Amino acid sequence: MSDIFYNHLVEELVKAKIDSPRLEARLLLAFACNCDESLFCPYTALNAEQKRRALQLLSRRVQHEPLDKILGYRDFYKYRFNVNSDVLTPRPDSEILVETAIEIIKKNQWHNILELGVGSGCLLLSILADVPSLKGVGIDISQAALKMAQKNAENLKISERVKFLQLDYFKDDVAAKFDLIVANPPYIPTAEIRNLMTEVKNYDPLSALDGGKDGLCHYRQIAAVAGKWLNDGGNIVLEVGIGQAEDVIDIFMAQGWKNAELRLDLAQVKRCVILQK
Ligand code: GLN
Repeated sequence: MSDIFYNHLVEELVKAKIDSPRLEARLLLAFACNCDESLFCPYTALNAEQKRRALQLLSRRVQHEPLDKILGYRDFYKYRFNVNSDVLTPRPDSEILVETAIEIIKKNQWHNILELGVGSGCLLLSILADVPSLKGVGIDISQAALKMAQKNAENLKISERVKFLQLDYFKDDVAAKFDLIVANPPYIPTAEIRNLMTEVKNYDPLSALDGGKDGLCHYRQIAAVAGKWLNDGGNIVLEVGIGQAEDVIDIFMAQGWKNAELRLDLAQVKRCVILQK
């Protein structure tokens, strides 16, 4: 074991095959020391209590609990979101949905937005935070997720412009109309869930991952029901899994949706599908 505590953490993270071991060691140490990570020097001498806390955090990370769920936050788009295992971790792949939604809303001078399956709130709240005239509703089947979304809305000081409702779009009616709908529904085929990284399959909620037999079951439901929650000419902006974009477009077109468009994520994957009612 290295006599430099930081190096010890790095070595243990390397052994556990964690990507970016130096960055993660630095973030875990800063958190253990209650210090802002941008100001923290990893070679700082730690006291016994800080070392104990750091080793406790390390023991969780080497078992592949995700870093963001240990730290309790994740940076997404321009903002910081609280996360726990009740919500899907925000991923950079999804930032294209935020950019796309904001562009459409500004172009059309739209007033309101609905998110189906709001989770942590990272999509809806990022959009609301950037468009101060906009109001939003976020629905989710999980009360625990809505609690986290509410907390994030308060942190971003936009809680007076957003309402969260516990609703299931397979059964319930949102009973209101909006200019734009966004959704990142569960899209992993059920049989593939066991092959996902431990960080995902053990710590993201299954209800936010499982897209049924072929991964497309939530898209079929949304294509069938979401039109009645949109004003005429309104758009839906959807995240899709790798290789799903064309199938999702076919599902929506078969239900009468039109003007399909595609956007790529940062890794050049067809990640975002836009359709019009
Ligand atoms: N992006 C997540 C993953 O691939 C899945 C999220 C989802 O099903 N919507 O692990």
